[in-house]
Amino acid sequence: MPAPGTTTDKYIACAAVVPDCPFEATAQTEEELLKMVIAHAEHTHGITEVTPELAAKVKAAIQNRTQ
Ligand SMILES: [Zn+2]
Repeated sequence: MPAPGTTTDKYIACAAVVPDCPFEATAQTEEELLKMVIAHAEHTHGITEVTPELAAKVKAAIQNRTQ
């Protein structure tokens, strides 16, 4: 288990992919974060297919946040 204060989360702001979208998400793993982003994209943006281009954009927008 990581010591307190050394947790690194994955963070994404949807605005990095879709301008002006206020959605943000954090998760402990990239897989978990991608699931949240894809669910949001389907629900809010009507995106039903994640193309390789979109996946690349999303992955490029993911940041590490150390707490
Ligand atoms: Zn969005």
